[in-house]
Amino acid sequence: MSSIIQLLPDHVANQIAAGEVVQRPASVVKELLENAVDAKATDIKLIIKDAGKSLVQVIDNGVGMTVTDARLCFARHATSKIRQAEDLFSLGTKGFRGEALASIAAIAHMEMKTKQDQDELGTHIIIEGSKFISQEVAVLPKGTSFAVKNLFFNIPARRNFLKSDTVEFRHVMDEFQRVALAHPNIHFSFYHNGSEMYNLPAAGYRQRIVGIMSGKTNEKLVPVNEETDIISIQGFVCKPEFAKKNRGEQFFFVNDRFIKSSYLHHAVMSAYDGLLKDGSQPSYFLYLQVPPNTIDINIHPTKTEIKFDDEQALYAILRASIKHSLGQFNVAPVLDFDRDANLDTPYHYKDVEAEIPTIQVDGTFNPFTDDKTNQHYSKAASGSSGYSSSSSSSSSSSSSSGSSYSGSSYSGYSKRVEPTASWESLYVGLDVENPESIESSPFTFENEEVTSSLFDDEEVEQATQKTYQIHKKYIVSPIKSGMIIVDQQRAHQRILYEQFLLNMTVNQAASQQLLFPLDLFYSASEMKLIEELKPSLETTGFVFDESKTDHIVISGIPVNITESEVSQVIEQLLSDLQDGIPANSYSQNDTIAKSMAKSLAVKTGSYLTEKEQDNLVNGLFACKDPNISPFQKPTFITMRVEDIDKKFAL
Ligand code: ADP
Ligand code: MG
Repeated sequence: MSSIIQLLPDHVANQIAAGEVVQRPASVVKELLENAVDAKATDIKLIIKDAGKSLVQVIDNGVGMTVTDARLCFARHATSKIRQAEDLFSLGTKGFRGEALASIAAIAHMEMKTKQDQDELGTHIIIEGSKFISQEVAVLPKGTSFAVKNLFFNIPARRNFLKSDTVEFRHVMDEFQRVALAHPNIHFSFYHNGSEMYNLPAAGYRQRIVGIMSGKTNEKLVPVNEETDIISIQGFVCKPEFAKKNRGEQFFFVNDRFIKSSYLHHAVMSAYDGLLKDGSQPSYFLYLQVPPNTIDINIHPTKTEIKFDDEQALYAILRASIKHSLGQFNVAPVLDFDRDANLDTPYHYKDVEAEIPTIQVDGTFNPFTDDKTNQHYSKAASGSSGYSSSSSSSSSSSSSSGSSYSGSSYSGYSKRVEPTASWESLYVGLDVENPESIESSPFTFENEEVTSSLFDDEEVEQATQKTYQIHKKYIVSPIKSGMIIVDQQRAHQRILYEQFLLNMTVNQAASQQLLFPLDLFYSASEMKLIEELKPSLETTGFVFDESKTDHIVISGIPVNITESEVSQVIEQLLSDLQDGIPANSYSQNDTIAKSMAKSLAVKTGSYLTEKEQDNLVNGLFACKDPNISPFQKPTFITMRVEDIDKKFAL
């Protein structure tokens, strides 16, 4: 039998190897930025188009390359950074594998211009799918420019696998931020589709962090500094009261390289022990320097993980120095954010947690019928109620027909002259055993007439419920001890969030049948995600007909959304979920409920009638957790009369 093993041609080997180095535009960004840093540039410009799918360009003013090197840099295992295996133990550069340029050139159109300072002329090379197209001498400034166009042009499968521009852009942003944070002494600028995203002059760590995160970051940072024989730690951690719900702003740099380490993360978290609200995440920007021979950065192909010789010692030092910083900067006294008087639940309500009513959605409730017999919405009903694809835009006609009521979402509110009685039905069954939880809201509205307050010591009193909307944003309402100010958008998010979550967990959401099923078109990757989400979405009231390869067919939607909101809801969901479900153990339902609450909640800027304001406030306080929005923002504040008095006393 003849031999069957053959060596793969170079360009095929390169394409295969490229898969390891280049997963998406952000990988190209990372490799090119790191090369520019390694070339000792003091000014690095990143230019991308269409989230990097059409163009990634990096221009630096570094050392440049000779003519020979300019050609050689595209060869596999061509590197100027190590000469022998031992060099790996004293590595001072980002790159060392000599694979990046060969890999990128294998799967894109690439153009390089480079010139060294001492040379008169530079080199201009065009290479496409590993094939050299041209090499010319050119007049160029000192430094190097790489332009990578049409990524994966020769591997359609990989190209199709790319996510939406929003998602890919976020990955690029992550890589840019990591490199820019690691090297504050370098001037970085970043342009996307012609707009400037960042322009960060050379600076110190603090200024760079603030430049990247936002102006407000400065006041949140507490410096950390520690110098020992085995490690030096510099950087900042965030005051505990500014901790966030997600892990977005947590950065470790080891010898100027961004790394991930769950072990060191744990060390940081343990330094915050007892200072954080459950599940909240402090931001941190920690720069560690260790002798290069005490780490092995090569255990992970994309080099974001690292192995330390003496992990336990580093853990202890890191933990202690952060604890020290948090203590030294007197962070402890302000930690009692749980007891912020402004966030206290009004009245006796807070001590009777077991009594807090839960929303029980009436599964049989149909908001589209005038009569309140609560029959299930049926196909026949959908015809007779006139519910059609145009109904959602006709909400202004509500005075003539109850059938066009647009659901519990407030999106049509500004148009509706008069809210229908159906609104309250949302809270049907709110707490039958404990009727005062709705009838008289859990806090007291001040009666404008003098009440017989002689007897009502701590009693909740019934009063005319007066609310005022200010700036189409807040709802102000007098209460016994002063007043509350409710953020309408956040409050509604909370209400919707709990409704959706409840619907999903008890799995009995009502659905409204659409007269004309909706066809919505999505990309292949989005379709995949929707397929995965379908079972959860069905529990909210969505009904899917058999979907095609490029679109879904929706024949039923949850009762509390309108047809015109459907695509917006799904878009939002896709963007919220494209990166998968958040790592910190949120369930898929939770994420979906949050996302839907976000899309559907009444927005700041919407006018609410007095009735709607009332309903919103009552709905909020019927929630399990009325104090905060699903996104951990306060939903209302209280202002006691004494607080107001104090202000007048000035
Ligand atoms: P590595 O960075 O691992 O060495 P690369 O494929 O990224 O491998 O780059 C190969 C070589 O090309 C580098 O070792 C360096 O000598 C040269 N090179 C790449 N980018 C630049 C640049 N921006 N300026 C100067 N030289 C560069
Ligand atoms: Mg490199």
